[in-house]
Amino acid sequence: MQKISENYIDGRFQPVSGDEQAPLFNPATEEQIGIVRLSNAADVDTAVAAAKRTFPVMAHSTVPERIAMLRRLADVVAAHGDAMASAMGQEYGAPTYFIDYSARRAGSVFFDMAKVLESYAWQRRIGAAEVEMRPIGVAAAITPWNSDFGFICAKLATAIAAGTSIVIKPSEMSALQTHVLLQALHQADLPAGALNIVNGSGAVAGAALTAHRDIAKISFTGSTGTGRAILHAAAERMARVTLELGGKGAQIILDDADLDTVAAQALASGFINSGQACIAGTRILVPAGLKAALQDRLVAALDHWPVGPASDPSSCIGPMVSQKQWDRVQSYIRLGQAEGATLLAGGEGRPMGLDRGWFVRPTLFTDVDNSMRIAREEIFGPVLSIIAYQGEADAIRIANDSDYGLQNYLLGTDPDRLKRVARQLDSGRVVINGAAHEPLAPFGGVKQSGIGREFGSFGLDAFLEPRTVLA
Ligand code: NDP
Repeated sequence: MQKISENYIDGRFQPVSGDEQAPLFNPATEEQIGIVRLSNAADVDTAVAAAKRTFPVMAHSTVPERIAMLRRLADVVAAHGDAMASAMGQEYGAPTYFIDYSARRAGSVFFDMAKVLESYAWQRRIGAAEVEMRPIGVAAAITPWNSDFGFICAKLATAIAAGTSIVIKPSEMSALQTHVLLQALHQADLPAGALNIVNGSGAVAGAALTAHRDIAKISFTGSTGTGRAILHAAAERMARVTLELGGKGAQIILDDADLDTVAAQALASGFINSGQACIAGTRILVPAGLKAALQDRLVAALDHWPVGPASDPSSCIGPMVSQKQWDRVQSYIRLGQAEGATLLAGGEGRPMGLDRGWFVRPTLFTDVDNSMRIAREEIFGPVLSIIAYQGEADAIRIANDSDYGLQNYLLGTDPDRLKRVARQLDSGRVVINGAAHEPLAPFGGVKQSGIGREFGSFGLDAFLEPRTVLA
């Protein structure tokens, strides 16, 4: 059993002074595989003080120096890809395809930020004004368990590019993954104090970090409820925030779509990361006349989504991260039935042959009305709702009738029509026909999906403040 009892502060591993601990589990077996010591407010103070001391060093670093740091980070993370993949399989249990994407390619975000720096306009002239983009101050990041490497690397890359130092509090549930990642990041030889990572609970370490008066910027990824609490804490001192929160994406299937292709794509977008993804397309909107035909194809396509542990490379859906998350998904499956939706596939309990582990049955509900809670609330598991619509305007209305607005999906054949519908969707992103991710494009949501954008130059802007000089 692995014991994680150190934070990473001021360029070295330092013992956690807090005396609380939390167990770490393998979600595929429910066995305890580790224990993590949780930081208290004093640990957070130590980390913020180190970041504050180093801020001027980072702020005065040159762009070529930052590019060099980012390239070193990319190299060391790439070199640890196998160890990261193994930790992710053990502690998180994601399917192989997602581990490959998240662990072996986590370092690419550093190259992406280096690319942004190559052409970023730090000085701009607007009429008689000279505008200079300046690092915002000491940054904090708080990240969730559903992509530990991805979120930590993305926020660190942005801080380095901006010339700030950062204190990161990852989810306590992914402490083994964070520990493996830190072995890599330590080798990048950043200025001591540029990167600080504290293990701890959200309630203690997270709250202490977001309330800290020396933190000028908070970049948070997690649930909408926690995002709201962070926004309140930041408001006290006007700290800047970027909030990447939940989603309830719609997948609009237009009436000219090829249903065989669409069924495969709809499941891929709905079941991404075993459904534990803010960008999952969990509401499948289909023309009423095509509903029966699509349902047949979706049920048949479920055969391509076997559930199983990360150790089985054929698994496409892994376990939920925790007992709590398993219980939550089960309660939504019961709720859907109680609300009057029709269970088309899946349902309560574990999949056949999987008696241990927090595995759930991939579940399709149909006859769902968009007012039902299963269509309005984020379930964060492989549970999809099929909603029939009457005409294009109705589909757009239903898609936009959501508290969330992160990522919607469109499936159809007429490119002009697809673009026209995309422009009417109220979300930070729209993906047409499974288009590939564009790493430099802005990522983030509208409404209760968050505030601000990450990645590329939009993400960098959020870690900077413009100063205008009029002469
Ligand atoms: P939470 O909001 O519960 O936790 C996210 C992080 O915030 C964790 O590190 C947690 O700590 C910490 N935290 C909890 N309470 C506080 C607090 N009061 N002050 C400061 N920090 C706190 O989300 P989950 O971990 O459950 O992640 C799943 C959620 O994240 C989903 O709703 C999902 O949609 C959203 N998400 C959004 C993404 C996006 O980009 N839009 C991407 C991925 C997920 P700890 O866990 O250690 O207690």
